[in-house]
Amino acid sequence: MQRILQAIQAGAGAEELTALPVPESYRAAFVRREDVEVFAGLPSADKDPTKSLHVDEVATPALAPDEVYLAVMASSINFNTVWTSIFEPLPTFAFLDRLGRESEWGARHALPYQVVGSDASGVVLRVGSAVRLWKPGDRVTVHCNYVDDQDPTSHDDSMLAANQRIWGFETNFGGLADLAVVKANQLMPKPAHLTWEEAAVNALCNSTSYRMLVSPHGADMKQGDVVLVWGASGGIGGYAVQYVLNGGGIPVGVVSSPAKAALLNELGVEAVIDRKAEGYRFWSDQHTQDEGEWRRFGKQIRSLTGEDPDIVFEHPGRQTMGASIFVCRRGGTVVTCAATSGYMVEFDNRHFWMKLKRLIASHFANYQEAWNANRLVSLGRIQPLLSAVYPLERVGDAALKIHRNEHEGKIGVLCLAPTEGLGIDDPERRAEIGEDKITLFRRHGG
Ligand code: NDP
Repeated sequence: MQRILQAIQAGAGAEELTALPVPESYRAAFVRREDVEVFAGLPSADKDPTKSLHVDEVATPALAPDEVYLAVMASSINFNTVWTSIFEPLPTFAFLDRLGRESEWGARHALPYQVVGSDASGVVLRVGSAVRLWKPGDRVTVHCNYVDDQDPTSHDDSMLAANQRIWGFETNFGGLADLAVVKANQLMPKPAHLTWEEAAVNALCNSTSYRMLVSPHGADMKQGDVVLVWGASGGIGGYAVQYVLNGGGIPVGVVSSPAKAALLNELGVEAVIDRKAEGYRFWSDQHTQDEGEWRRFGKQIRSLTGEDPDIVFEHPGRQTMGASIFVCRRGGTVVTCAATSGYMVEFDNRHFWMKLKRLIASHFANYQEAWNANRLVSLGRIQPLLSAVYPLERVGDAALKIHRNEHEGKIGVLCLAPTEGLGIDDPERRAEIGEDKITLFRRHGG
């Protein structure tokens, strides 16, 4: 891979890259099938990704006609890598086995190991025989919606495709590696003003937040909407508040420390709730929720904005869903994509139906939504949330940091890129947008 890196750094074009051999193996971060029981019986918090995420050489798979080999310059940790590495809520090898039964090309994925990672920025190395729109040398980012476009159910909204998958989570050959195998319809142009690591952290979380808030498939936010955003300085929350601000909405960001609150203020979010400082306890014990706490929370939101939220951007799940449904305004929308604190959620249905609220399920984004979200990054209207950068060898430490909720925004991972700060193709555009804006989370993350 070193020769490929040198060629990329020298600005090699399609011809030069095509002349270089694709190595038979590459460095990758993976979990092992034989390890799926190693954390059995431990509480989630004690399951340690540094013990289950390995970095070593793996064999390069064959390339299908609709795929490209990508030289991965940088990637990022998403929460799904935390799930995969602690084998919760279930080991992801069953996904690979199912994909393996689908087709000859699918069979490549069912291996004793899974290369993880659902984000990447890098350079196209080779294209399969059916790829039309991309060529070796193209500088790209990758979105993680992995669909079979021969399946008719993928053609209205590809997130509704019967066999829709998340690349690097429900497939093998993900982005936390020096090389990745992706379908051509996962590629998007790399925002030219960003470094490799800044460009690598956006696609998964940014596209998810776009669909949840902006797309008609989600909450379809309007100007002036009050939007309550949980985890507002985290991965999806940090993009969500930017969409609310851009769209003329009024964000109310929930965080858990004064430092995170200060970061949100700097981002332009005036109404911020520090849930820890306020001591909210929506559950009085494991089985009982406390409506008094929901009311206290609702009053605090009203005191900040004068109104109840039109939209609640929900993802913590069990710990917060009762409160989210309660505080949402009459006729308002709760949009959810996750359940970090537990997926068996519970809410008081009376507050839901009597006030004609809506609950919308959302999951990642289709290609058009991901493309739209990436365009907004390219235009400098959405900023990357990169707060820390780790080398690929320390991928386990990076995942542990997210598992422990010790991070802000997104953690980037350097794969082929030897140092931070490389890959900016349009420094003038970067200067126009403003270094301070682009690096806000990085400066806070230290
Ligand atoms: P992050 O860890 O970056 O951010 C989540 C934030 O949620 C935390 O920073 C924390 O913020 C807040 N949070 C965590 N637990 C609780 C709790 N019990 N009560 C209130 N707030 C809590 O993760 P991401 O933003 O990247 O992802 C969030 C969730 O969304 C994950 O479960 C992930 O798997 C899922 N996801 C789903 C996607 C999909 O397509 N369906 C796509 C992307 C993510 P604080 O402590 O500051 O309040």
